[in-house]
Amino acid sequence: MATTDKAQVVRAGKTYHDDLEIVREELDKCMKCGNCMSVCPVYGADKVETAVTRSKIAVAEAVLAGELELDDPQVYAMLFNCLVCKSCMTNCPTKVNFDRIILALRAALVRKNGLPWLKKAIFSTLKHPKLFDAGLRIGAAMQGLAFKTDKGGKAISPRSPFARVGGAIGFDEERQMPGLNVTPLRERVPEVVKAPGAVLKVAFFTGDSLNYFYPDAGQDLIDVLTANNIEVHIPKAQNCCGVPVLVHGDVETVRTLARNNIDTFDKTGCEYLITGCGSCGGAWQHDYVDILAADPVYGPKAEYWAKRTYDVSTFLTRIIKLREPKGRVERVVTYHDSCHLKKSMKVFAEPREILKSIPGLTFKEMSAPDACCGSGGSFVLSHYETSSAIGRKKADDINRTQADTVSVGCPACMMQLLDNVHRAGGQQEITHFISLLAESYRKEKTDKGSRS
Ligand code: SF4
Ligand code: SF4
Repeated sequence: MATTDKAQVVRAGKTYHDDLEIVREELDKCMKCGNCMSVCPVYGADKVETAVTRSKIAVAEAVLAGELELDDPQVYAMLFNCLVCKSCMTNCPTKVNFDRIILALRAALVRKNGLPWLKKAIFSTLKHPKLFDAGLRIGAAMQGLAFKTDKGGKAISPRSPFARVGGAIGFDEERQMPGLNVTPLRERVPEVVKAPGAVLKVAFFTGDSLNYFYPDAGQDLIDVLTANNIEVHIPKAQNCCGVPVLVHGDVETVRTLARNNIDTFDKTGCEYLITGCGSCGGAWQHDYVDILAADPVYGPKAEYWAKRTYDVSTFLTRIIKLREPKGRVERVVTYHDSCHLKKSMKVFAEPREILKSIPGLTFKEMSAPDACCGSGGSFVLSHYETSSAIGRKKADDINRTQADTVSVGCPACMMQLLDNVHRAGGQQEITHFISLLAESYRKEKTDKGSRS
């Protein structure tokens, strides 16, 4: 965070998460020009002015002026009808940091009214990783009662109690989702994975999605790093990055999670922190710096790690020289730019560079690869219809490429695409881009074996 920027984040020992007044300068930057309309996915789906960024900014102004109450039902509905995707920030002539405004508003609402009991119960388990882990393992063991395996994902079984109550949030028989893995990634691998002739050691922040839903992709990431002579540390004590909680305004829980994560990664002694998820990487690069900006102990530590956090694609192509993949991967692949990976971490060229370096792989660009997929963490559950309308556009764009594989750099988008692509009748495989690189490295061995 630049010094000038710091004054917009922290003032008198408080951040904008603690005091709505701090975002007043951001509000003043908005000219109400409406440029944000054309890129806001929620406006694109709902076509109502209240969905647009400038309307939410007007609400923040009215709240600060004492003309509106945050817990007015209409205000509440507007505040949560937003994916926090940052798309509006890419098309704003005055560079309004809308993410700070919306997060400050939601945090102010939680300060005023507290959290609803269900969110409070779920978020508090995140602060107790063993309890959270046990809950997900029980879920993994029991999921067969509620879900059936179908089209590469899981769908609600018609006999499940979910089938009766879950339709409103998209848990119907058509819903495709990845299954919870009985053995999470961090249980599968040792805390240190050695690499022959290692030249560097890095720490891998798995995040919960790679750990519980996509452990194979997490394993692929580790395999790719070790194939590039990198020793990988995967601390078991790491917990959720906190982004799913931050977007609901529960700042104190995120501060606890951030401090725990910082302590855990400090102990690794590694120089670099690697992520395979745009939301997790964005948390380490930006959110922890902001939420801990007034903390004299953890603020500087957050800044230390922010400078050393890299998406795996950036690390492989900018920090080290990627070992050239030689195994042929005969696929037609398109790439979806996850909002947090592109708009928060500014990573978009690097995954494409990696994909295009794989022999046999044909790369096809979508017409709008960085259009949001509509996931937005829990937005997909609370606003399923809007989320699906956004996802349908993405699925149509994917279908037009005629790719057989959709590669992604964020597990939450993988989940959303799995559902929307299959609902739109597509049969494409949804995969993390790092898995295609791992596939090429694995093929080198089999290709070599078949030649000899
Ligand atoms: S594009 Fe920026 S300045 Fe224009 S209305 Fe949207 S937020 Fe305000
Ligand atoms: S963050 Fe995304 S969903 Fe929210 S107002 Fe901006 S563009 Fe729309």
